[in-house]
Amino acid sequence: MNANNDPTLLARLAVQKLSPYQSARRLGGKGDVWLNANESPFAFLPDWAQVAKTSLNRYPEPQPKALIDAYATYANVDPDCVLVGRGADEILELVVRAFCDESDGVLYCPPTYGMYAISAQTYGAPTKTVPLRADGGLDLPAIEANLDGVKAIFVCNPNNPTGAPVAREDIVRLLESAQGKAIVVVDEAYIEFCPERSVADLIGRYRHLLVARTLSKAFALAGVRCGFALASPPLIALLQKTLAPYPVAGVVAAIAEQALSAKGVAQMQARAAQIVAWRKDFAQALQKTPRVTKVYPSCANFVLVRIESMQEAFDFLWSQGVIVRNQSHVAALRDCVRFSVGAPSENARALTVLQQWSAQ
Ligand SMILES: *Cc1c(COP(=O)(O)O)cnc(C)c1O
Repeated sequence: MNANNDPTLLARLAVQKLSPYQSARRLGGKGDVWLNANESPFAFLPDWAQVAKTSLNRYPEPQPKALIDAYATYANVDPDCVLVGRGADEILELVVRAFCDESDGVLYCPPTYGMYAISAQTYGAPTKTVPLRADGGLDLPAIEANLDGVKAIFVCNPNNPTGAPVAREDIVRLLESAQGKAIVVVDEAYIEFCPERSVADLIGRYRHLLVARTLSKAFALAGVRCGFALASPPLIALLQKTLAPYPVAGVVAAIAEQALSAKGVAQMQARAAQIVAWRKDFAQALQKTPRVTKVYPSCANFVLVRIESMQEAFDFLWSQGVIVRNQSHVAALRDCVRFSVGAPSENARALTVLQQWSAQ
C-alpha cells in the first residue's frame, strides 16, 4: 500500500498512530442495566413545545446568549467568563488545539480520564504523566519538576475513575507554580455531586485557570452534547478563535436553557443528592460482597471497586446484561471495575449478579 491507493497514509503521522477513545458506547454490549458511562438514571423531560419554537432554517447563535447567561448565573461567574461547546470533551480539546503542538505538551496525573491523552496525541503534542499519590492527591513536587515543555495541565476533580477529590490547596499551589508557563484545566464533570469542591471561584484570581463543565452527568443530558468552559475573559476569547462557527445546535441550546432555569437547577440538585445517597448504600453493599477487595471512596456518581479475578466477574456481569466499565487497562487499576450509580433497582440487580458470581 502506498498513498496512491490508501488515503489514510496521507494523514498526519500522529493521527495514523492514534488509537481512539474506547467510549462506553463504542465498546457495545447487550445490556439491560447500563452502569458504564456515568450517565444519570433520571430522564430529563424538556418542554418540547418551547423547543419547537427554534427556527431551523437559520444558523443558531454562535454562543447563545440566553444559555451563556443561564450558565453564568448557575456557576456564579460573569457571562464573559463562559464558553459553550459540544460537550466538555470539545472544551478539553480546544485547550490542546490552542496551546499545544509537537514541542508544547500536556501533563496529566493517571489514573484519570482517558481523553486528556487522546486529545494530546491527536495534535501530536507530547504527554508527561505524573501519577497521583497513593492517597489520590496530586504529587505537586513531581509536577513542578516536570513543567518544562508543558503548556496544559489537566486535573480531574473529582477524579474519574477513582472518585477521589483533589484538595483545593493543591490546586491553588499548582496554579501558583504554573503561572506564566501553562494553562491549568480543572475538569469538573462531576462537581454537582460535591459542589463545595469547585474551584470556579478562582478564575478571577488566576487568569490561566480553566474549569471544564458538562450537562452530561448530573444534569442528565448526555444525549444533547453540551459543555462549558469557565475562565478569564481573555482566555475565553482566545479559545473561541479555534471553535467551529456554530458549535451548539439551536434545539440543544433550547433544551440546555430549560435545564439551567431555576427550576431545572433545583431539580438537578435534588436528584444529585438522591444519587449520592444511593451511592452510599451501593458502596456499602459492594464492600460486603465476597471477593470485593477494595471499594474506593467516591465524591461522584460512580464507585471504583477492586475484585479478585475481576475479568471473570466482569464477563459474568456482562453475560447477565449488567454492563460496567473495566479499568484494568491502567496499570494502577489492575482488577478494578467502575460501577456508575444507577437507580436503586439497577444497583440492586448489579449487586445480585455480582453476589451470584462470587458465591459460585
Ligand atoms: C464524561 C466526562 C467528560 C465528557 O463530558 P461531555 O460533556 O459528555 O463531553 C469530561 N470529563 C470527564 C472527567 C468525564 O467523566
